[in-house]
Amino acid sequence: MAKRDSFGEFEATSLFCPRCKRATRTRRKLLLVLPSGNKYDYVCAECGTAVGGKMDNDPTDFYRTTAPPRPPQR
Ligand SMILES: [Zn+2]
Repeated sequence: MAKRDSFGEFEATSLFCPRCKRATRTRRKLLLVLPSGNKYDYVCAECGTAVGGKMDNDPTDFYRTTAPPRPPQR
């Protein structure tokens, strides 16, 4: 399985956009990485209005982010 790039990740979700006054495709942005999970924001792909948010309860990214296997470099 290919490793996903978490920056600029797209998700084909449709949500109602109050500015476009119709359901549009949304972009998912990672807002916060917390011990309890990740917080995402959904924005309209056409006008950029925030149309919703989501928490997932997967702490994997948090621990990956806070404890990077980075050896000291010279
Ligand atoms: Zn819109």
